Amino acid sequence: MFARAPKKSDNTKYYEVLGVPKNASQEDLKKAYRKAAIKNHPDKGGDPEKFKELAQAYEVLSDPEKRDIYDTYGEDALKEGMGGGGGDPFDLFQSFFGGSPFGGMKGGSSRGRRQRRGEDVIHPLKVSLEDLYNGTSKKLSLSRNVICSKCKGKGSKSGASMKCAGCQGSGVKVTIRQVGPSMIQQVQQHCNECRGSGEIINEKDRCPQCKGEKVVQDKKVLEVVVEKGMQNGQKITFAGEADEAPDMVTGDIVFVLQVKEHPRFKRKGDDLFVEHTLSLTEALCGFQFVLTHLDNRQLLIKSQPGEVIKPEQFKAIDDEGMPMYQRPFMKGKLYIHFNIDFPDSLTPEQCKTIESVLPPRPSVGLTDMELDECEETTLHDVNMEEEMRRKQSQAQEAYEEDEEHMGGPQRVQCAQQ
Ligand SMILES: [Zn+2]
Ligand SMILES: [Zn+2]
Repeated sequence: MFARAPKKSDNTKYYEVLGVPKNASQEDLKKAYRKAAIKNHPDKGGDPEKFKELAQAYEVLSDPEKRDIYDTYGEDALKEGMGGGGGDPFDLFQSFFGGSPFGGMKGGSSRGRRQRRGEDVIHPLKVSLEDLYNGTSKKLSLSRNVICSKCKGKGSKSGASMKCAGCQGSGVKVTIRQVGPSMIQQVQQHCNECRGSGEIINEKDRCPQCKGEKVVQDKKVLEVVVEKGMQNGQKITFAGEADEAPDMVTGDIVFVLQVKEHPRFKRKGDDLFVEHTLSLTEALCGFQFVLTHLDNRQLLIKSQPGEVIKPEQFKAIDDEGMPMYQRPFMKGKLYIHFNIDFPDSLTPEQCKTIESVLPPRPSVGLTDMELDECEETTLHDVNMEEEMRRKQSQAQEAYEEDEEHMGGPQRVQCAQQ
């Protein structure tokens, strides 16, 4: 019906390249391509042209729409439609076998559509609780790579370079390993001949300033501003200050705050906690003490008249906690956890004096007769932690003994079967 007759030879070539019949299923195509691509990969001594052909054939035939056009009109029709022709065979290979092993450093084609992004550099930054309470700034000197100003990152005087023969200019070497009967593993590495750049610069043509490296070392001082109320683990980012490299978006330098433990204050969110030990007299009859805050202010802390503090009791002071991040005029609470230091023993005279002012003891409520029928006991001191540890290890030993008893004959039985 149409005058546009396909050239006969034109719509069979891709099938021949992959070695499959014209009615091959997607599954057949996939298998054939996988087998042929491994066999013909340039890193395994294959012909790069053949490898490219395979990739192109597979790219077309694996896409039902393109396959249809190819079957009907042939290769030329596709070239018109595809505008510039097939993709990078390495990219296809990569997508076929999946994944980029490089993480931040995206491998593949250096002339690619997507620009590579350099790695972020992460530094821990130790700060004190005082730093986070008051805010501070720290100057840090870092050395990093910057693009050579003399050759503007070309690495050569003339600007000329040759494609690296080791990696065909891709900057990566791909090796295929058979790891099982139906499993292969693709290993990508930076090309060692061009160090991942994909090109080689003639020795005589090398830029004298960077010796062909394209980058030079530079020292830079960064001022890290630690704001009031920042948290442990919080990141402070200097965008685009990491190592520069040609054709690459420069990564960030990221400082991660690491708060050193404070001898007196503990922080929980916006609140601060301190421990304070009172003598029994202070707990019963009142106290006052001075607490030096994180900004060296002296806080006078005292009890209300007649107030008694009990062991393990908490009290809080409003607005003396940590400043809130980016709202430094708002502050959390300062909690004080009280411990009471009891005397170890008292003399009978001291007891008499204390008893005279304290509420009376509860009566036992037993007659002498009833008491006579009770059994006498003795209380002795224990170190509870040690007791628990000992009990645990006893239990463990008993368990192991049990195991031996049970396990012995059973093992013999197993061996006999
Ligand atoms: Zn240079
Ligand atoms: Zn190379």
